[in-house]
Amino acid sequence: MDDNASTPAAKLLLLDLDYSAGERAFRDEVRAWVDANLPNALRDKVVRYEHLTRDDHLCWHRILADKGWIAPGWPVEWGGNGWNVVQRYIFEEECGYAGAPSLVPFGLTMCAAVLLKFGTDAQKRRFLPRIYRGDDFWCQGYSEPNSGSDLASLRTSAVRKGGHYVVNGQKIWTTLAHMADWIFCLVRTDASPERKQEGISFLLIDMRSPGITVRPLILMDGGHEVNEVFFDDVEVPVDNLVHEENKGWTVAKYLLGHERLNTARIGTSKRELEHLTTFAARQVKDGRPLTDDPRFRDKLSRLAIELMALEITNLRFLDRLRGGRAPGAEVSMLKIKGTEIQQMLTELMLEAAGPQAQVIGSVDDRDLDDPALAALAPRYCNMRKTTIYAGSNEIQRNIIAKHALGL
Ligand SMILES: Cc1cc2nc3c(=O)[nH]c(=O)nc-3n(C[C@H](O)[C@H](O)[C@H](O)COP(=O)(O)OP(=O)(O)OC[C@H]3O[C@@H](n4cnc5c(N)ncnc54)[C@H](O)[C@@H]3O)c2cc1C
Repeated sequence: MDDNASTPAAKLLLLDLDYSAGERAFRDEVRAWVDANLPNALRDKVVRYEHLTRDDHLCWHRILADKGWIAPGWPVEWGGNGWNVVQRYIFEEECGYAGAPSLVPFGLTMCAAVLLKFGTDAQKRRFLPRIYRGDDFWCQGYSEPNSGSDLASLRTSAVRKGGHYVVNGQKIWTTLAHMADWIFCLVRTDASPERKQEGISFLLIDMRSPGITVRPLILMDGGHEVNEVFFDDVEVPVDNLVHEENKGWTVAKYLLGHERLNTARIGTSKRELEHLTTFAARQVKDGRPLTDDPRFRDKLSRLAIELMALEITNLRFLDRLRGGRAPGAEVSMLKIKGTEIQQMLTELMLEAAGPQAQVIGSVDDRDLDDPALAALAPRYCNMRKTTIYAGSNEIQRNIIAKHALGL
């Protein structure tokens, strides 16, 4: 992405999709630092697709916080480090490629973005430093039974009584609620608005408040990632209201754009594609390496091309963001392609492993050709979620149809 295309006209016609010399030097610096500072035990867990504990998540978070790299996109006065969008992308890509755990976005990217845009000074001072240091672990309370894609139909109620709201209702699919200290919630503060998008408010709720119950939902892979969260007469101080009462939908929409920015995971997919290619080259079919099989090669090549196209699309998108434009419907395109590629990777890995994919963690993984095999089948099941969460891919297609194609 060289800044010095020769003339203004050339700049209009050409998109330089390579990194500049400065960006390449930055990438090398990040790569070396991550290599030296990512604990091996944590990396091993990530590349073996093991479920991470709260301590695992916070370990990498705090290493980055100490370095000053945990919240690059925040304003400098709150701990941001002034990196531009390209540097931030390079950093995320390098971390994903190296096998660092994905940073839990609920506090760092979602709640923080909302507080920075809509929070009072007191709310910023109270919550942002704790999010930065990893003192508070956050989760997202948006979805409810029957209110997922149609989020504005949500019914969890918050009734104001003196200095508190009294909250009653239920959230569902709440990722990592069982690890969380705080939850940010959309609640209904007006029971009979003219439009369902009105009468919603954005509340910050302490998970230790009396009246909150968290129940696990076990996913197809047997893992505990998501939960139901029940609110039974939970008292929430009015100071924890973000933005105006009944104007929470504005906050919700702002946050969803930020949520989808992080779903493409190109660095992680590149690492997994390399792993798949090496693994397939060791697998033998009809006396030849699987990578010599024309049909498998075809699928592998298609996947590699899709990933390359996604990366180029992402660079084009970053080039525009660098020019100061807000993320628009293009984020939906990145979400769709990024998550489809993540699923295709697990499908091809399963195909390459053949019967070996059936070990499902039951065999001591020291006996396996590849330690990631033990988690392969559960991983395949787990990755079905990517086209559902952060707004399902069907909903992303609707967004593209409406905002990008004008349909
Ligand atoms: C693993 C996982 C983690 C999650 N984590 C969180 C979290 O931390 N916090 C949170 O608040 N939520 C979370 N969610 C919830 C997620 O946002 C919803 O599941 C998602 O928005 C879909 O809503 P739904 O499940 O109610 O499905 P529905 O909205 O009932 O949709 C069912 C199907 O119909 C399709 N559909 C619905 N409406 C349309 C339409 N208008 N046009 C075309 N197709 C349509 C959908 O694409 C889907 O295929 C998580 C979900 C999963 C699977």
